[in-house]
Amino acid sequence: MNDIMKFDNELSIEKSRTGKRGLHFNCPSCQANIPLEAARKSEPKLPQLSEFDAVRHFTRLSKYNFSVDTHFYPLGSCTMKYNPRINEEVSSLEGFTSLHPMSLDENSQGTLEIIYDAHQRLCELCGMDDATLWPVAGAHGEYTGILLAKKHFSVIGEERDEIIVPDSAHGTNPATASMAGFKTINIQSTPEGLLDIETLKKHLNSKTAVIMMTVPNTLGIFEKNIKTICELSHKNGTLVYMDGANLNALIGLIKPGDFGIDMMHLNMHKTFSTPHGGGGPGAGGILVKKKLSPYLPKPKVEKKDGKYFLNENLPLSIGRIKSHFGNTQVLLRAYAYLLKHGPKEFAEIAENAILNANYVKSALENLFPPYSKEYCMHECVLAPSKELADKGIKTLDIAKRLLDYGFHAPTVYFPLIVHEAIMIEPTETESKETLDSFIETMRKINEEALNNPEFVKNAPHTMPVKRLDEVLAARQPNIKW
Ligand SMILES: *Cc1c(COP(=O)(O)O)cnc(C)c1O
Repeated sequence: MNDIMKFDNELSIEKSRTGKRGLHFNCPSCQANIPLEAARKSEPKLPQLSEFDAVRHFTRLSKYNFSVDTHFYPLGSCTMKYNPRINEEVSSLEGFTSLHPMSLDENSQGTLEIIYDAHQRLCELCGMDDATLWPVAGAHGEYTGILLAKKHFSVIGEERDEIIVPDSAHGTNPATASMAGFKTINIQSTPEGLLDIETLKKHLNSKTAVIMMTVPNTLGIFEKNIKTICELSHKNGTLVYMDGANLNALIGLIKPGDFGIDMMHLNMHKTFSTPHGGGGPGAGGILVKKKLSPYLPKPKVEKKDGKYFLNENLPLSIGRIKSHFGNTQVLLRAYAYLLKHGPKEFAEIAENAILNANYVKSALENLFPPYSKEYCMHECVLAPSKELADKGIKTLDIAKRLLDYGFHAPTVYFPLIVHEAIMIEPTETESKETLDSFIETMRKINEEALNNPEFVKNAPHTMPVKRLDEVLAARQPNIKW
């Protein structure tokens, strides 16, 4: 970041000079056509800038952003990977963007066909039987899934009000369980970061409706006992929910349906090529086994006599969870991504995601001890060493110093079960050169922190803002910045 950008913090309104203009539209006939009562009585209070001033102002602001297109962005649990531009093109085709959400089925055949076909392809990839793509976020998918379970137990006449959530699950899992009105039973992981089978047996009882497993879990570890977990749960009449938000670690390698998962969600905006950040837009499609299929939300995209239609006549459905076609553009990108890759390429995606994470982990494990010695999946969880901790260096200091070197910070202080966690997800789309440069920088920061801890504790040194009170910044944002 150069000095001009660093010190130019003026708002456009502060840059305003009376009389400066960009394009001048001189159109007397347009003005003549405006009814008098609709015309402005006074000038709008907009900044007065030349076109060039405006271009420079907004271009400069855009450069303050860290983004996947400009920086390595190893944000654990978020899959900030490169998303091919061709998918953007597909999702912007006019035939899709101009489709009115209230169009009749016969006028929406293309979009309906894509959603129908995407259901089939996703079910095939995951070994499941049926799907809905209406949920608009991972957490929305989870909530939908748990409503399906609730309906299932009410239909079969069983009163079950507990959901087991291991402490290595994503935070949205316990939140979903309680929002859906269940009691959350939290169980502790083993020191290796896995679910302990004996502990599970103690907690499974006639009240257990669902167990929610994040696979891979938030420690980036594959739950080795998942098959046994499914068998024990099924024996108890309990459904197994899989949080599959991070399917880029598994895609093409395994099918969750094969080891006994009853329902799962996918994050289109992580695995299936939608750039994400800032809270959306997303899509958290749900895949289910046959027995849960009748409860899927309305309407269902179905096919009859070669025509696609939205079936509203579903007596056991949990009802509508989103208006119209969900986040259609996200689904279109996912569909383009699905068509683009064959089964072998999907496996390569997962293999590269796993290889990249283990490469970073093994290169840094001497300096930043990992939570688990096990091979990780698509992400690894590290922490500052004892030597750094003795100098008072925190994970936050390292994250802030990374910004000075042009890297977006990894996820920090998550998962909660790891003290001072640094969670790194390099993703499958990064090159060895980028990973090497990140590793080199982490080593350099380690060196700096040992030799000059105060300097690192005061990082960042080159950003337009330094350390913020993050809680206050979220509650009372200073819009000027
Ligand atoms: C991101 C994520 C979620 C939540 O997805 P949203 O789209 O942010 O609601 C749930 N579980 C896991 C494992 C995730 O990584």
